[in-house]
Amino acid sequence: MKKIWFVGAGPGDPELLTLKGQRLISEADAILFAGSLVSEAAMSWAKESCEIQDSKGMTLEEITDWLISRAVDDAKVIRLQTGDPSLYGALVEMVQPLDKEGIAIEVVPGVTSAMASAAAAVETLTLPEVTQTVIFSRVEGRTPMPEGESLVELASHHCTLCLYLSITLLKKVKEDLLAAGWLEDSPIVVVYKASWPNEQQIIRGTIADIRDKCKAAKINSQAMIIASPTLGARNWTELKKSKLYDAGFTHRFRKSSE
Ligand code: SAH
Repeated sequence: MKKIWFVGAGPGDPELLTLKGQRLISEADAILFAGSLVSEAAMSWAKESCEIQDSKGMTLEEITDWLISRAVDDAKVIRLQTGDPSLYGALVEMVQPLDKEGIAIEVVPGVTSAMASAAAAVETLTLPEVTQTVIFSRVEGRTPMPEGESLVELASHHCTLCLYLSITLLKKVKEDLLAAGWLEDSPIVVVYKASWPNEQQIIRGTIADIRDKCKAAKINSQAMIIASPTLGARNWTELKKSKLYDAGFTHRFRKSSE
């Protein structure tokens, strides 16, 4: 059977690959990986005989042609994607031509960079009575945003925002968050190359100064922007505790002690 695996490589640290992703890489006959964002270390498990190709500089058609040409019967062919394949990864654009060829598809999820960034900064994206919602989005650049999804509209919920592909658009992030009623001194964290050994940088600032701080640190790619009313909660003195661990709260696994 002809088959192509779309595997989430995770955010960079090869140890953040899933066990399944690692096994598939070690069995692969051909791997096409997504340019500068997938750590080459992730390929260190590949067999000596595995054909490994960087897709940086390839068009979508060249990518699908490459995959189709390698997908002979019983070959293990992998498209290795950064983070999770379902987020900003052109998954469906690649799957459609493969469907036309009758090639089977399987997707293996990966740790997305928003999660790796929160982990790097020791931040929670949800906090009781602060926010219980996370939005994964981006700011409008060359890719237009669908109606109702402008940053001003999304930010009006005052929940956690994880912004992909937007590090060069911090001016617009600032304008839009202010227009949505966020305060100038609202905290923002930018994580560059989250989880990459020796390369990760965490920049903390506010809506007012984050752009200058990122400029000074020369960060203009491969970065996650997190804006959230939960940021910095590690240092708060008063926290509304999660009901899950509250002594007066009964749930499926524990009876209230009050
Ligand atoms: N599918 C990927 C996202 C691809 S879009 C995922 O799930 O993470 C590329 C964007 O992802 C970048 O512009 C950046 O915003 C973010 N990104 C990818 N890797 C990152 C990392 N290690 N640290 C911070 N942001 C990262």
